[in-house]
Amino acid sequence: MKFLRKDSEPSDARALPEMLTETLSLLDGDSLILAPGEVPIFVTPGAENLGILKDGRIQSPELLATVRVVRRTHNQQVGKIEIPRGPIGEGKHELTVKVLPLTKDDLVLVLISDESEAQRVHDVRRDFVANISHELKTPIGALSLLSEAVLGSKDDPESVVKFATRMQSEAKRLTDLVQEIINLSRVQDSDPLQLAQEVSVEYVIREAVDQCQITADSRSITVTYLENTDLVVLGDRDQLIMAVHNLIENAINYSPENTKVSVTTNSDSGIIDISVADQGIGISESEQDRIFERFYRVDPARSRQTGGTGLGLSIVKHVAAKHGGEVKVWSVENVGSTFSIRLPIYDTQMEKAQ
Ligand code: ADP
Repeated sequence: MKFLRKDSEPSDARALPEMLTETLSLLDGDSLILAPGEVPIFVTPGAENLGILKDGRIQSPELLATVRVVRRTHNQQVGKIEIPRGPIGEGKHELTVKVLPLTKDDLVLVLISDESEAQRVHDVRRDFVANISHELKTPIGALSLLSEAVLGSKDDPESVVKFATRMQSEAKRLTDLVQEIINLSRVQDSDPLQLAQEVSVEYVIREAVDQCQITADSRSITVTYLENTDLVVLGDRDQLIMAVHNLIENAINYSPENTKVSVTTNSDSGIIDISVADQGIGISESEQDRIFERFYRVDPARSRQTGGTGLGLSIVKHVAAKHGGEVKVWSVENVGSTFSIRLPIYDTQMEKAQ
């Protein structure tokens, strides 16, 4: 729970009954209390992280309009509002707000819940299940055929070894697919900005590069990251590592042997850009939008060979959007690709000053 900062405290700030603020803090959803002039005098941390306030003022014109109706009519109002997740990208918080007049001193209570998010997650999941069933059928079908082949060649040890080896690789494919499905559904379900940690960009990149080292070595590809950044973003560290890891792993998989993959950062106007550039096969312009769709692959045969699940970029896109950012691609066929995750920088100095 957070009471308003000293510098923006209204001159007529009054003590709120402790029972009220304690009750609000115990509720599942978030809330804020507004004094006349729409000055917030009580804000739950979750409401703060949702970006409803900026410089101590309400950002959403829809919410302000609803509050004014409540002040005029003294009746409660329910409405839906959308708040951008960050200064860039299309990610939005879709919130249901209930605005109530409090009898005491013209105060207005705003209760916020993420029900629309729950509905969206439900819809996404339904479509996803349909796709998954289709994707699972391929390795499961292969395993079934291969086991028959093993049984049919029990007197031929060489064939048994051959079929069993293929069974192993299909089983690995199945395991990877299931793991990626779990990863994607976790990312879609979570809200990294609500339980946000301060995450060091340097740590995220170093960890992601380390995780890709074995794949890179096996293809004689050098992955370089030569910088040292002290910038911090707000969100879920593991999700961010997974997103950068997916980009590096793709850069390796879709490049010829003995090439280079470089990771660089660039910060400008409050946004940090984490870019992964390769000297690989590239992606034609017409495919560049589609590659972020679940299970879309430009060349299914190649993706199958590298063990790709078709979910990697979809995960990256969701992680970026959930962190109030976006992912961009620049690519030329047979020259190479650069993927960038762009995220809002978290200003630790400003937070310390508060
Ligand atoms: P996959 O598991 O198939 O790699 P992704 O979602 O990670 O799935 O990527 C989708 C498709 O985008 C890939 O199948 C590939 O065709 C293309 N792609 C992704 N990254 C690159 C890259 N760095 N260079 C060329 N093509 C890429």
